Amino acid sequence: MSNSIAKPENWTQEWREQILPTLAEQSWDLIVVGGGITGAGVILEAAKRGWRCLLVEQNDFAWGTSSRSSKMVHGGLRYIAQGELALTRDSVRERQFLLDNQPGLVEPLPFLYPHYQGEFPGPWAFAGVLWLYDLFAGKTFRQFHPPWQVPMLAGGLQPDGLKCASQFQDAVTDDSRLVLHVLTEARALGACVVNYLRVLEHLYSEANAVAGQSEAQERRVCGVRIEDSLTGEQFELSCQALAQATGVWTDASSLSQQQQYIRPLRGSHLLLPGWRLPVSQSVSFKHPVDGRLMFIFPWEGATVIGTTDIDHLDDLDQEAAISQAEVDYLLAGCDKVFPSAQITEQDVLSTWSGVRPIVAKSTASKDNPSAESREHVVWVEPGCVSLAGGKLTTFRLLALEMLQACSIFNGCSMQAVPKVQRWAESPSADHCLVGLSSSVQRRLYGRYRANWPAFCAVFNEVGPQQVSTTPIFWAELAYACEHELVIHLDDLLLRRTRFALLLAQGGVALIEQVRELCQSRLGWDDQRWAQEVQRYLIIYQRLYSLPRAGQVSL
Ligand SMILES: Cc1cc2nc3c(=O)[nH]c(=O)nc-3n(C[C@H](O)[C@H](O)[C@H](O)COP(=O)(O)OP(=O)(O)OC[C@H]3O[C@@H](n4cnc5c(N)ncnc54)[C@H](O)[C@@H]3O)c2cc1C
Repeated sequence: MSNSIAKPENWTQEWREQILPTLAEQSWDLIVVGGGITGAGVILEAAKRGWRCLLVEQNDFAWGTSSRSSKMVHGGLRYIAQGELALTRDSVRERQFLLDNQPGLVEPLPFLYPHYQGEFPGPWAFAGVLWLYDLFAGKTFRQFHPPWQVPMLAGGLQPDGLKCASQFQDAVTDDSRLVLHVLTEARALGACVVNYLRVLEHLYSEANAVAGQSEAQERRVCGVRIEDSLTGEQFELSCQALAQATGVWTDASSLSQQQQYIRPLRGSHLLLPGWRLPVSQSVSFKHPVDGRLMFIFPWEGATVIGTTDIDHLDDLDQEAAISQAEVDYLLAGCDKVFPSAQITEQDVLSTWSGVRPIVAKSTASKDNPSAESREHVVWVEPGCVSLAGGKLTTFRLLALEMLQACSIFNGCSMQAVPKVQRWAESPSADHCLVGLSSSVQRRLYGRYRANWPAFCAVFNEVGPQQVSTTPIFWAELAYACEHELVIHLDDLLLRRTRFALLLAQGGVALIEQVRELCQSRLGWDDQRWAQEVQRYLIIYQRLYSLPRAGQVSL
């Protein structure tokens, strides 16, 4: 049975205020904790099966790692070298599944790996790995390019010592839009999804105690105490099963709190204007200092340099930010393959850092964070299923595994209900946005198809203007304000859209235009608007700009 309370066309702060007092009246088959890609996947799969389900996120949706990844939907070539064949096979298959099912949001991205004199792997070894990669996909993407073809594939590449290049294919997405899309689909199927609700503690029942079992086994999770992060108000919610998808915060939300599961590893990125280092595909290469694999790839009209992989020792309640050492490391990597571009800090538009929820293994990989496995772990305690680790790419598989474990506690069916629809690849003729190219239409439909008529209505009202030179339409901001539970300005500019990342200084020069379009849609008075702008600028400056960047102000 599905909930009658959540309506996809009505996902605003007003809806949130109305819904909160009713949450405790419901008897939930499943409560999902964490609004990253893992939690989003779990609630979607639960909603597809008609479970009465609720997702709560302590901050904004995708606020954690799921808006700060490298945005690849990939098999992970290097996992083959690490012997993680099952992970690579599953990831490659999920990549293909997402390419088939999420056109416009998950798009193919060719990768070029230039081979230099004296570097391993050479073209033959690489071809062997690519053969296996293609075998998993059931398609042949790999290509070999002699040296004279390479400058046409990636202009400006270091020519000294260049022997040839290998090419293969993965895919790229906008991670936080993927989370939003999955959540919107879940809502369309009746799930209830609320941000800024924090789980404080678990509630236990003794009701299912079995005679003869130990005391510890008799305690079973039957709900959670949550706090509204906006008002401080607390509620108790009851559920048959609890799914914890809390990423790097898994240790904090673990029931037993006995074992250290997570080794937080930080990865940081630099974003450049596309014209400054134009690349038509991802270029992968080894860093000159430590030989780690890096990539430089096109994303949303800009160019990304990524990524680092270091132990993140800071307090996890403080959001991660790039360090000066990471900036220097990434620029040195870029300089190795594109020396003539002479990229410096002055070219950087924005930065972001994410923390990988890596499940800690033996001490063998202690000195080499990149050698830690990217496999996930699911563990089950009475009434509660938790997951740590994993990848953006494999979120659907992780969700199914979690759901299966939860079904043991709530007795719900794992059969999908008939109303689950498969999305058309493009909008129907009566719902096309007139005057847009097919590639732009595809991009927008990929992002908003789960609520497409509502998106079209806003788009037609606001018009087809784009934000400066970015691929973002002003209508996307307006739509998010009206339909995507924006609570703070940073939700809108950092995660519903990538306005903050794609514009110099977080787009502060356009903030007045944002106000004209969004303030009334969000129902904020002038004082609230001013507070939100201050909050946004502080967040942008601290977490998304360079460590040595000057003060961003209005
Ligand atoms: C630098 C970097 C690059 C990466 N690149 C890729 C890539 O290219 N491809 C790929 O497939 N994967 C990639 N990954 C991995 C991928 O991003 C993560 O595996 C994935 O985003 C984890 O999602 P999650 O939902 O498990 O965690 P998160 O996205 O962190 O979500 C967990 C959520 O739980 C919430 N939460 C925690 N505690 C509570 C509580 N008590 N109450 C309520 N909510 C709570 C948090 O606020 C958070 O939003 C990368 C990761 C990093 C860091």
